[in-house]
Amino acid sequence: MADSTAETTGGGGMSLTSKIMIAMGLGIVVGVILNTIDNDFLNTQIVAGFFGMIGTMFVNALKMLVVPLVFFSLLGGVTGIGDIRVLGRVGSKSFGLYLFTTALAITVALVLATLIGPGRGFDMTGIDVSGINAAEAPTVWAVFAAIVPTNPIQAFASGEMLQVIFYTVVLGIAVLMLGGRSKPFIEACDYMNEVMMKIVDLVMRAAPYGVFALIAKTFAEQGIGLFLPVLAYVVTLVAALMIHLFITLPTLLKTLSGLNPITFMRKMRPAQIFAFSTASSNATIPITYQCATERVGCDKSVASFCIPFGATINMDGTAIMQGVATVFLANVYAIDLGLAGYVTVIGMAVLASIGTAGVPGVGLVMLTMVLGQVGLPIEGIAIILGVDRLMDMIRTAVNITGDAIVTSIVAKGEGKIDLAVFENPDAGIETSADAQLPHEAIA
Ligand code: ASP
Repeated sequence: MADSTAETTGGGGMSLTSKIMIAMGLGIVVGVILNTIDNDFLNTQIVAGFFGMIGTMFVNALKMLVVPLVFFSLLGGVTGIGDIRVLGRVGSKSFGLYLFTTALAITVALVLATLIGPGRGFDMTGIDVSGINAAEAPTVWAVFAAIVPTNPIQAFASGEMLQVIFYTVVLGIAVLMLGGRSKPFIEACDYMNEVMMKIVDLVMRAAPYGVFALIAKTFAEQGIGLFLPVLAYVVTLVAALMIHLFITLPTLLKTLSGLNPITFMRKMRPAQIFAFSTASSNATIPITYQCATERVGCDKSVASFCIPFGATINMDGTAIMQGVATVFLANVYAIDLGLAGYVTVIGMAVLASIGTAGVPGVGLVMLTMVLGQVGLPIEGIAIILGVDRLMDMIRTAVNITGDAIVTSIVAKGEGKIDLAVFENPDAGIETSADAQLPHEAIA
């Protein structure tokens, strides 16, 4: 039976998703209360100390899974596809779609931000702009050259996902070329993939606590007051993110694959919550992969490639933030971007999202490149810095949804989606019986 704690009934009766959602709500309430109390002891010992520890342990546990999971599942995926031409097709289709969705996202963001016009008449007094430095924009050539690792061990150790993917795909192709002799190795990889998915299940059991700690800490530290000065920015950004999440992406899914977007969204909810809590597409890879395969029904031969690939190169939500932030800051500084400026923003945002990994806050670093490119003052970032963590959480949820949508479209096009799984609302739900350790079976 498909064993996923994305939905665990675990004996307690309540599904794990429900528990995680309750934990998220409680985290917000407790965080806002702690922020209001603003007590030194509570801030250092409970918020930064205890919640910080639980949250860090949880995110670390997710991250510890990413590289081995991607390695074994992708190796299984490449050898499972069996045909190098199909592999090339999946790769080029997903690459094209990822670029397309990102460009679409940022265009919508630019249009909406231009219509709403946040930042006009903004008062800059009292904003500390020291300590903000611009990041260098990598060239397209450098981005592509860096895909080939010099030392695979180093690539694995530092979690360079594009290099890990490249090396694993090459390894998989070589394994395929050896034919029959590779069978035991392929079986071992499949087995290891299952083992990794079991560890995902174990980590998921701790999810309600981890999510609670992460959310409570963020809200305790951020507070609601930070939003007021930049409310127009926040409202425009969230509106653009929601349009992408609830209109653009679902329309794309429906037209290109025929799959029901409402069913799809319901199935992706656990991954969205994880992305929101961790603000990292990379750390969420295990959960996105699990949702895409066990709940949506994408074949692992497609998902094992498209999900980690997307987590690295596809960032729709981040692109949206860059579009809105650019227009906002242009308004604040009363600088006219002009059509050329807008086109530059689109191109830069798409490029920047290819070269950077999905980790917390990276969108802001990428924004410095975009601003520099269109001649806006980098210091402007100080204005939106305070709210960026929360915006990061929302845009990361959008990022991983984009990854899963493209994965599903590609899987559907390749005939690699199990519609019975997709239609089954209980697919990927673990029962309490699955949670037992079957010693006897091993004996
Ligand atoms: N945190 C985002 C992600 O991991 C990237 C960003 O926008 O900062 O997808």
